[in-house]
Amino acid sequence: MATVHPIVEHTDSFVQRDYSPAAKRALERRPALFINNEWVSSSHRATLIVEDPSTGREVGRIVDASDADVDRAVATARGAFDDGRWSNLPPKVRERTINKLADLIEAHAAEFAELEAIDNGKPVGFATMVDIPGAVDHLRYMAGWASKLGGEVMDPLALPRGTVFSYVAREPVGVAAQIIPWNFPLLMATLKISPALAAGCTLILKPAEQTSLTALRLADFVAEAGFPPGVINVITGNGHTAGARLVKHPGVDKVAFTGSTEVGKIISRNATDSLKRVTLELGGKSPVIVLPDVNVEEVAPAAAGGIFFNSGQICVAGSRLFAHRSIFDRMVEGVTAATAFWKPRPSLDPQAHMGPLVSKEQMDRVMGYIEAGKRDGATVVVGGDAPAANGYYVNPTVLVNVKPSMSVVREEIFGPVLVAQRFDTLDEVAKAANDTSYGLAASIWTKDVSSMLRLAAKIKAGTVWGNCQAVIDPALPFGGFKQSGIGREQGREGIEAYTELKTVIIQL
Ligand code: ADP
Ligand code: MG
Repeated sequence: MATVHPIVEHTDSFVQRDYSPAAKRALERRPALFINNEWVSSSHRATLIVEDPSTGREVGRIVDASDADVDRAVATARGAFDDGRWSNLPPKVRERTINKLADLIEAHAAEFAELEAIDNGKPVGFATMVDIPGAVDHLRYMAGWASKLGGEVMDPLALPRGTVFSYVAREPVGVAAQIIPWNFPLLMATLKISPALAAGCTLILKPAEQTSLTALRLADFVAEAGFPPGVINVITGNGHTAGARLVKHPGVDKVAFTGSTEVGKIISRNATDSLKRVTLELGGKSPVIVLPDVNVEEVAPAAAGGIFFNSGQICVAGSRLFAHRSIFDRMVEGVTAATAFWKPRPSLDPQAHMGPLVSKEQMDRVMGYIEAGKRDGATVVVGGDAPAANGYYVNPTVLVNVKPSMSVVREEIFGPVLVAQRFDTLDEVAKAANDTSYGLAASIWTKDVSSMLRLAAKIKAGTVWGNCQAVIDPALPFGGFKQSGIGREQGREGIEAYTELKTVIIQL
C-alpha cells in the first residue's frame, strides 16, 4: 500500500498578486459586444460577473447577450459572408490578415497571459508557456491553408472522356457559430476561428461565460489586423440562452462546439432541426497505461502532470491510471510524491504550477465526486480535500481501491482527481481502458515496441500517446471516438470541416 503524504496548507499563501495596469484597464471596460468591428451595447442591461477564482472576488462585468443581440450578430456575419467581402479576397490577403492577428496576440502576450490567469485561475507561467503561444500557433498554421485549399478535376465513371468537364470545388460553409469552454479560453478561441477564417467563413464566437476576457481583448485587434467588418463577431453570454439561440439560429450554417458531453448532446439536437453542419469536441476519461518495464521515477511525475496540469480541467486529462501489478505501489507512491509540485497557489504567483478550479460550481462538483468516491469505498491516498482559502482550490487527489462501477471511475470529473487501478495482462488493460462511454485520448508507457503497437491498435480513442502525454498540435487531427465528439479539428480535416464540396458537371 502506498504511503499517505498529507499536504499542509497555510492560508497566507493564498494571497493573489496585484493586477498590472493593462489588466486593470481590461477589467474596467464597459461591458460590450463586438459586432461588425464595433463595440456595441447590449439591447438590454443584463451583465454577468467576472470572477477571479484565486480569490472568489468579482473583478468585472461582461454582457449577458440577449436574443436581439444574438440576432444582430448573426445578421452581421450573414451579410459579411453573403457579399463575399472576406471569402472573395485573394487567399494571400486572408492568409496575411490571419497572421497579423497572430502577431498582435504575440505582441501582447504578457497581458493575454495575465488576463487568462485572472479569469480562469490557471498559473500565469503556464498561460505564458502554453496558452498564448498555442493560440498563436493555431492561427499561423491555419493561415497557410487559406492559399492551399483546393478542389479536383475528376472524370465521371459512365460518360465518354471529353464529353463533359467535371470538377469538385471546395467552398466555405458559410456562417459559423463557435461555442467554446473555459479551460483554455484564448487557445480555444483561436483554434476555432482560424480554420473558419482560412476557409473564408464568417463567424460568431461565444466564449464561456466564466472566461470571456481574452476573447474580448482579442476582438480589440480584429480591425487592426485588417479583417473587414462582420467577419469576426464576439458575443458574451450564458450558454442556455445566448448559446442556445446561436445554435438554433436559421442564419447559421455550421456549429462548432467544445465543452461537456452533456451540453454537446443538447447542441447536437438543437442544430439538427435545421441540419446545420456540426463538429463537437467533448469530454473524456482518458486512460494512462503503464507497463512493467518503465522507469517509474520518470513515468510517475509524468502521470501526475497528465492529471494535475490545468487543475485537471482538460478534456484529455489522464484521469484513469492503469499500472501493472508489479509496479502499481511504486507508481502510486511516485504520483503521490509528485503532488507536492502541484500544490495549489493563486494564479499570479510565479511559482504556481496549479491554480484554483475555475468556479465555485466546478469546485463543488469536484468535491462531490471525491465524496462519492469515498462513500463508494475508494481510499484517498493523498488530497481529497480543499485548502482553507477564499478561492476555489482543490488539493491534488489520488484514489485507490476503486471499482469500475464507481462514478469516480466512470464519469469525467474535470478536476485534479486521479483514480488508480492494477492490471496483469495487455488484453485485460485494453478491455478496462475501453470500458467507458468516452474515447478522446489515451497514453501508453513502455519501451516494448510490440506491446506499444498492439495496445495502440486496441484502444478506442481519437489520440493515443506513446511515452508522452497531452501533445496536441495544430497540424495533427484531434477529436474523439464514441461520446467524446463528432468530427476532427486541426490539420487538413480541421479546415475541411469549414467547407462544402460542390461537384460541377458541364456537358461539352
Ligand atoms: P461546463 O459545463 O464545464 O461549464 P459547458 O459544456 O456547459 O461546460 O460549456 C461550454 C460552452 O457551452 C460555454 O460557452 C457555455 O456557455 C456553452 N453552453 C452551455 N449550454 C449551452 C446550450 N444549451 N446551448 C449552447 N451553448 C451552451
Ligand atoms: Mg455547464
